[in-house]
Amino acid sequence: MDAIWEIIQTIVLFFLLLFGGGEDTAQQALVTPPPLSEGSYIQVHYIDVGQADAALVICDGESMLIDGGNVGDSDVIYTYLDKLSMDELDYMVCTHAHEDHVGGLSGALTYAAVETAFCPVTDYDSKAFTNFKTNLANQGVDITVPDVGDSFTLGSALVTVLSCDSENEDPNATSIVLRIDHGETSFLFTGDAEQQTEQEILDAGFDVSATVLKVGHHGSSTSTGYQWLYEVDPDYAVISVGKGNSYGHPHEEVLSRLSDAGVTVYRTDQRGDIVCTGNGTTVSFATAK
Ligand SMILES: [Zn+2]
Ligand SMILES: [Zn+2]
Repeated sequence: MDAIWEIIQTIVLFFLLLFGGGEDTAQQALVTPPPLSEGSYIQVHYIDVGQADAALVICDGESMLIDGGNVGDSDVIYTYLDKLSMDELDYMVCTHAHEDHVGGLSGALTYAAVETAFCPVTDYDSKAFTNFKTNLANQGVDITVPDVGDSFTLGSALVTVLSCDSENEDPNATSIVLRIDHGETSFLFTGDAEQQTEQEILDAGFDVSATVLKVGHHGSSTSTGYQWLYEVDPDYAVISVGKGNSYGHPHEEVLSRLSDAGVTVYRTDQRGDIVCTGNGTTVSFATAK
């Protein structure tokens, strides 16, 4: 009789696992940010890499580098990490394969040991991307392609993947879009995602409201649509952009949309490195210039 009961239990368990009940529960449990630890703080360094993107997020001693600027910015990233003695990175995110995002990650990989590396693609035909992959391989790290809705903790902060469209032929549209929740404050990182991706994120029903928005695609008018901005409703926006760039970034339309929405804007071309520090309730900014 006992043997039959054991068989029935095994079959029930098998079907539960097969239809993913356990996995859903685990993911939902993570959707609520963990309680802030005593004295918890988050620091986001929007590193000035000219017409490119790089941001270092540190929360309660855990760290994540999101993009690394152009190949020529490898030294900048190396020096920045060295200055903070940040020789271990829990996460590295390459939002998409364009050089102005992946290029300088090789500089980071020369200085720091990386635990987990996220990217929407595992191959891309460019020297910058090949070097990125080689540098990761030298550390024994494979690229992880995240799923939309994945979440993980960074100290007391919760990081959620809002978009990652690996199959898209336009590299900008593959961009990994991240939301970071820290207490009552939140930060959005949008890579070079454009308005179609913004719409898809809204259609998927994600909460996008954020204290600080890293403006998509260096302030190009192809990003930061009205509805997106209305839903994000940020207090602050950061634009990573190079002085006198040939694209005319940031575009006037985007600056006026941000101004209409009453958003305080910080630009790396005007301020250099921009550091935002938050305690879970409020955030403050310090800039190099
Ligand atoms: Zn870019
Ligand atoms: Zn791009």
